[in-house]
Formats: sequence, structure tokens, C-alpha cells
Amino acid sequence: MSDLPKSDDLLSKIDPRPPAKSWMDTPVNIRKGMYCYASNPKSVEYVGLPHARAWNPLEEDWNLPENWKEIIYEGFRERLDKFRSFKVFMDICVRCGACADKCHFFIGTGDPKNMPVLRAELLRSVYRNDFTTAGRIMGKMAGAREMTVDVLKEWWYYFFQCTECRRCSVFCPYGIDTAEITMMGRELLNLLGLNIDWIATPVANCYRTGNHLGIQPHAFKDMIDFFVDDIEEITGVRVEPSINKKGADILFITPSGDVFADPGTYTCMGYLMLFHFLKEKYGFDITWSTYASEGGNFGSFTSHEMMKRLNAKMFAEARRLDVKWILGGECGHMWRVIHQYMDTLNGPADFLEVPVSPITGTRFENAKSTKMVHIAEFTADLIKHGKLDLNPGRNDNLRVTFHDSCNPSRGMGMFEEPRYIIKNVCNYFHDMPANTIREQTFCCGSGAGLNAGEDMELRMVGGLPRANAVKHVHEKYDVNMLACVCAIDRAALPPLMEYWVPEVGVTGLHELVANALILPGEGERTTDLRGEPLPGMEGDDAEE
Ligand code: SF4
Ligand code: SF4
Repeated sequence: MSDLPKSDDLLSKIDPRPPAKSWMDTPVNIRKGMYCYASNPKSVEYVGLPHARAWNPLEEDWNLPENWKEIIYEGFRERLDKFRSFKVFMDICVRCGACADKCHFFIGTGDPKNMPVLRAELLRSVYRNDFTTAGRIMGKMAGAREMTVDVLKEWWYYFFQCTECRRCSVFCPYGIDTAEITMMGRELLNLLGLNIDWIATPVANCYRTGNHLGIQPHAFKDMIDFFVDDIEEITGVRVEPSINKKGADILFITPSGDVFADPGTYTCMGYLMLFHFLKEKYGFDITWSTYASEGGNFGSFTSHEMMKRLNAKMFAEARRLDVKWILGGECGHMWRVIHQYMDTLNGPADFLEVPVSPITGTRFENAKSTKMVHIAEFTADLIKHGKLDLNPGRNDNLRVTFHDSCNPSRGMGMFEEPRYIIKNVCNYFHDMPANTIREQTFCCGSGAGLNAGEDMELRMVGGLPRANAVKHVHEKYDVNMLACVCAIDRAALPPLMEYWVPEVGVTGLHELVANALILPGEGERTTDLRGEPLPGMEGDDAEE
């Protein structure tokens, strides 16, 4: 973050005054710190996407194919025919402006092209020109404009300044989902090889090895073994996870970020401890997979076809391992893909059973079609039925608040389960203001593939509304921990907090659960999963 202006300087740079000229006459200014590097051609080529080549967003010439306008026109037409929602969203906006100030990127930058209505208008203006009679005849007067290289550059810059969070859609009286418009914009850009590398390379890795980080099976298992050793050191209990086990009760799939990056790794240890508890007490056998080793799906930030390809391994692995149903870990966009698209992409998974918890008897009706249960629902159900042995006092050093990740909240309506769990494993919980949580939650500012290192300024201004709400509960209730159920959040929120509210840490839900969970046969614990002294044990080190 060394290139970043100090937080006060960044705040003073936000200029909400509209520019002197109309938006169509204001050329795009691609600025360092506000964009992600161009896709690596090797990654584009690996998955067979077209026009793989080296190009640089800051250079005049983007090495476009000669017939690039034709490609965009045909791609636009195909998508209007295929996705009815796209056609409707292009036609029905009345420019009421209800969405205008709801985007975290507009709030954080003051740039009008980050208003959702105007972000959509970037595409809609070309739609009017190419596909409507009024636009063809009246041109600019009807809000139409021709496709040019400058327009293309504007698309690239602003469709990769949208985290597809859908906050704007909550406020639109017509239900226009600007995230879906961004997805279409990105699909069209991908037809010309114009992706960002923070998406293109994870997609290629995922296609090759099953996960975004390119972790091979033996390395995946090594990391799990490493966590097993750590858990033994902390609890005195050696957990024995099942990996690639045929005939296990269920398959567990989580984002690979949990296996390889702090603080997600503590959440991963939490899963391992919970699964061990369930095996010891109830004989419930959950297997991990080194093939379906990624819950996240950066394909969804590229194209529908790529999303489908990367998603396919979930059902394929469930079939190969002959499990009854699938449990999914704490992830954001993974759940958007599962909840909204998987059934029609690669389902229905009729070979799986409607998920039923054999421990509580609960039938997860909401998952009867996808056959995938979110771990927050699963754990909340165990707690509700008194099936976990918990000591919430072990989290008494924490004053916790909860960040509703955009996709589990707006994408699947999950609001209560994470809060229910936190309130049962922690004694101190405080929600952020109502207009910043649940359905109206503010994005972390780094989703949809934007959590790179080179666009830190964009991420910090985009995350400002979220950080501001955290600051409020920190100052009012002394909140010092921000819990979330998303791997991108666990990667993106720590630098955001460090920048705006450095007194607040970040945790996954199941790290909190595992701190409180009493494992059968465990010894006296003196530290939490991070090796920090438990409340009341702070003096132990000093005495030694
Ligand atoms: S989906 Fe989110 S990031 Fe994109 S325009 Fe809407 S509010 Fe902004
Ligand atoms: S709220 Fe909906 S109808 Fe109003 S300007 Fe935004 S997208 Fe258009």
C-alpha cells in the first residue's frame, strides 16, 4: 500500500461535483491505482478464449483485431437474443436516479460514471445506436452513440470498476440488476481478449488444477496436514480429515483461499475441528476433495460459458465420490453461482439426495434442487438443536460485528444464520447501522475479481462506506472484530480495515465457532486458533 495516499488525503480527493461537460463528452481517463493489469495472454489462450495477446491499458493501441466492431455487434446481438433479462434491462430504465448514489464506487470516487445508471448507460447508449429505431434516427438526442475505441476503453475501465454486488438493484423500482449488465459488458470485452489478469489467471489455474491458486493435490493435502498439526498443538486433539473418500456421507467444497491465506486459514482449521467433532460424536463422515478444491468461480466474472465449465467439477466430484449431498464453505460469489445458476448450468443433480442432516433430522428444503447446503445454515441448525458443545467465553476478548457479504445476503437471502451462530459462540455482538447491513449491505470494494494489488486506491475508496460503518460500531461499542462468510472478504477486508479502521481485525465465522467448540477429549486450551492467549490466560506467557 506504499503508493497509496494517506486516508485523509484520499477522503479530501473525493469530488462529487458533476463534470463541466456531459458524460458522453467526457473522455475516459485510465488512472494508475484504479485499474487491474491486463490479462496474461498465456492464461487467455489456455482456456481457449479468443484474441490472446499482450496489451497495456495505458497505451494508445490495444492491438484489437481488425474486425473488432463486428465482433462486438454480433456478440451484443447474440446476448440480446439469448438473455431476455439483458434486453429488458436495456429497454426499461427511466433514469429516475434512485440507484445513483447507492454504489460504493460512486460514493468513494464521486465519478458520475460509477453511478449504476450511468455504468449501464455506457452499454445502453451503444444498444440504442445499433439496435433501436429511435437511436438510429435521432442519435445523441435519443441517448445513442456509436461504438468507438474510446467507448470500448470506457467499457473496460468502468465494467472493471463494478464488483457486481447488486446493491443498486435493491433500490431500483424496476429491479434492473446492473451487476447483470456488467456481466454482459465483461462477456463482450472477453470476446476481444480484454480481461484483467486477476481474473484470467485464476480461471486458467482453476481449469488446470481445480482451484484458483493452482494448488496441486499433494500441496493441498500438505496444507491440511499442517492445520492438523496446529490444531493438535492448540487442543491436544489430532483430527483426522477424510480426503477424496469414496462413500463418505457428504462432500465439502470451500474456496481455496481458506486453505492458503490468513485469516481464511483459521476458518479452515475451524471446519476441520467441526467435522472432527461431528465424526466423533455422531459418526458423520465429511470428505474434502483435491479435485473440487475451489468453491469460488472466477469464470462467473468472465462469461456464462466459463462459469459453467468451472462449476462442473462440483457435481462431477460428488458423483465420483458417491456422496449423498454437498456442503459448501464460507464463500461469496460461489453461492451466487450455486444459488442462481448451477441448477441450469450443470444440473439438476438428480443423482444426489435432498439434503437432510442425519444429526438433527432437518431437511434443507431450500437446497432440494441444488443439493448444496451452506455451512452457516448447517451449523446454525446444529446449534439450534443443541448438538454442539460450546464455550462462548473463549471469545470474550472479541466485540464482534458482522459484514453481510453481498452474494450470500443479496444473492441468496442469508441474513439470520450467521448472526445466530455468532450470538451463540460469542458473548458480545453489535450490528452496524441498518442501512449498511443485510440486503442493503455495502460491498468490501474488492469483489468480482478486483482484489488485486495494483488497484489499491480503487479498493480503498470502494470499501469506504463499509469501513465507515465499521468505524461507527468501533467508536460506539468498542467493536474490534469484523466477521464475514466470504473468502474474498477475508482477503480484502484486512487491508481495508488497516487503512480506515486499524483497530479492527477480520475473521471467518467458523474460526469463532472453533474457538468456542469443546472437542471430545481436548486438553485445557490456552490460546485461540491464532495462537493468541484466550481470555483469562493472558498472564501465562508472562509467568513462564
Ligand atoms: S452492482 Fe454494485 S458495484 Fe456494480 S454498479 Fe451496482 S452498486 Fe455499483
Ligand atoms: S433506479 Fe433503476 S430505473 Fe432508476 S435510474 Fe437506476 S436503473 Fe434506471
